[in-house]
Amino acid sequence: YLQGIQKHRLNSQVFQNDSFEEEVKAFLIAEDQLHQYDDLTKVNPVTTKTVLKCLEARYQAGVFYTCAGCTLVAINPFQPVCHLYSPEVMKEYHTALQPRELKPHIFIVAEQAYRNVQGQIEPIDQSIIVSGESGAGKTWTSRCLMRYYATVAASSSSQKRCETVERIEKRVLESNPVMEAFGNARTLRNNNSSRFGKYIQLQLDRSQQLVGASIQTYLLEKTRVVYHAPSERNFHIFYQLMKGANEEERLEWTLPLTAGFCWLPNSEQTLEEDCFETTKEAMLHLGIDSLTQKQIFRVLAGLLHLGNVQFVDPVDESQPCELTDDTKDFIEIAASLLKVPEKLLLEQLRIRTITAGKQHQVFKKPCPKTECITRRDCLAKLIYAKLFDWLVMVINGSICTDSSKWINFIGLLDVYGFESFPQNNLEQLCINYTNEKLQQHFVAHYLKAQQEEYEVEGLEWSFVSYQDNQSCLDLIEGSPTSIFSLLNEECRLNRPSDASQFQTRIEKALSSNKCVSWDKFSQIPNFAVSHYAGKVSYQIEGMTEKNKDPVPPELIQLLQRSWDTLLQKLFPVEERGEQEDARAYSKGVTVVSKFKSSLESLMGILLSNTPHYIRCIKPNTNCKPMDFKKEEVLCQLEACGIVETINISAAGFPIRVPYQSFVERYGVMIKPHRSTLNQGSYGNSCSPAKRKRASTPIKKKSNLCMHLHSCLHFSTLLTQQAV
Ligand code: ADP
Ligand code: MG
Repeated sequence: YLQGIQKHRLNSQVFQNDSFEEEVKAFLIAEDQLHQYDDLTKVNPVTTKTVLKCLEARYQAGVFYTCAGCTLVAINPFQPVCHLYSPEVMKEYHTALQPRELKPHIFIVAEQAYRNVQGQIEPIDQSIIVSGESGAGKTWTSRCLMRYYATVAASSSSQKRCETVERIEKRVLESNPVMEAFGNARTLRNNNSSRFGKYIQLQLDRSQQLVGASIQTYLLEKTRVVYHAPSERNFHIFYQLMKGANEEERLEWTLPLTAGFCWLPNSEQTLEEDCFETTKEAMLHLGIDSLTQKQIFRVLAGLLHLGNVQFVDPVDESQPCELTDDTKDFIEIAASLLKVPEKLLLEQLRIRTITAGKQHQVFKKPCPKTECITRRDCLAKLIYAKLFDWLVMVINGSICTDSSKWINFIGLLDVYGFESFPQNNLEQLCINYTNEKLQQHFVAHYLKAQQEEYEVEGLEWSFVSYQDNQSCLDLIEGSPTSIFSLLNEECRLNRPSDASQFQTRIEKALSSNKCVSWDKFSQIPNFAVSHYAGKVSYQIEGMTEKNKDPVPPELIQLLQRSWDTLLQKLFPVEERGEQEDARAYSKGVTVVSKFKSSLESLMGILLSNTPHYIRCIKPNTNCKPMDFKKEEVLCQLEACGIVETINISAAGFPIRVPYQSFVERYGVMIKPHRSTLNQGSYGNSCSPAKRKRASTPIKKKSNLCMHLHSCLHFSTLLTQQAV
């Protein structure tokens, strides 16, 4: 950027011009060289507008990565740019003396983390936090980073070692297609949208070789098994199964080619991700043998049949719901695929068991149609979520190394970005809460980095104007009273959920927090939270129920009676007995409590190691290459905290001028000592007191600096006007 400014100065006439305003402009960005700014915080002046212009210019020039202080901004090219990720490029970044001097790239971040991990005194674990909205390129980026380490960490090994390393690398990489088949789905925003958060730790040994990995997942969107918005799809694995099963398997799982399944919408769309063979092969590499695979797919086929079971309200209310004629077969097949007694399955779906009184008397009550549907859906979600967790456990068993064999790790965090839809519920609250936590972590880290930079320059710094997001976090998760605590209280008291009453409770308990508000004109009970990335309105209806996520104990008991060994593993009967077990399971902790504690343990890990940030940006919502929509990018820059970063930069020293150019221009005002200045860069920060002092003769270098400060202060004022 220094070169940019100097070149501009030579080329332009402004320095020969006497107009002071023009001179100020000379320190600012030169439009035709915008794409050359590798670091957004060094754009002069650093404002959202100039930053946006710079990003656009770079994108148009085919440059997709830009630094923003300690963050890397990655704009999705939406087209293959293979030359960016080749092994040769990896090698270039890996072997560079100063990778930061190369063009901005995710490999700079990867390499920085890889070098940092050794530490100067002792090894320090690293984390790379990849964020951005759905479809922005987080998963793609994480995959590239994993490939980078798989290449780089293996390249230094001896031939013999290489063989073992390759095996583990392969397995670590193979975890991607399996996790994506079971955890990703087509949504309106992304054909391959991850429906869970993921933190993968790449374990390195003393010689910095990749010797293993472990995966932690967060909040799988299990509802997708039974419900998807129009034009969206279920998890990829169901389509892979339907399209990829051979004739024998079809027969075994009763999946005729022509079968229509309610839970399998938009099957006619064929995606790249619909490759059954790839998933099966990857599972095999991860140690999931073909017998176990068959069991998994049979259970999934069972779920598809279960989804076709429809109920009709009975004429006599004391009787259970009827099944529609055409779905009678489906229940039979579902029961046989899940290996549970058909009669018991039918009973548990349609009849509620109530235990009451000191004697634990048992009553049976037929459920109305809507409740039967809820119970059917609950059964499917329960099985799928357990299966997903079990898969993660098996994958971890296959890729994780004994703790004595690795000494530190590089963590890759690929979590869902900030979300704000026309209607938001508990899922969005949890997701935005995650982002709020990560933002707090980021700001603390960024401020520290800025402070260090200023210290190196010998500058006093005092940005007090920055507002942190603690009060928003207090509102959501604080104690003793917060939205989470109120939600949990509702579940604990188990009172019938009434959204309006819950809104009143929030109003009463939390209205002193400035981050909460209400849309008084809305017909539905709601509350709005002012997140750092914008205000989001959450609808209350259904929130407490989602938080409770109730599982009727009868359904657990049903699955515990399955004679399928996989389901037996997923729903084991513990010593305390079937009933007790089922009751304990169904009582379970609430969704927000579980989520909060898993996030807290993640934050604990992140706090104890060095973070690196990659912010992925989606240039347009249509996933089109070379289409840069300014408004959409701006929203994301706001949502991922880049605007905050820019604001923090601006609150500190927004204009950075190289000593040399500054002295050349303003040195005339301080003739006596201009030669004492060294080269470097300087910012503006000037109090009125300093300005006053600046008019006195200057003798020492420190005074000279103050004087330069005061001169620059005027130029900043002018700059603001000019901009
Ligand atoms: P996210 O995980 O943020 O939801 P993905 O990583 O799945 O988004 O990216 C969405 C799509 O964008 C990918 O399927 C791919 O087609 C495209 N994409 C993302 N990053 C890149 C990249 N660096 N180069 C080429 N295509 C990309
Ligand atoms: Mg993803």
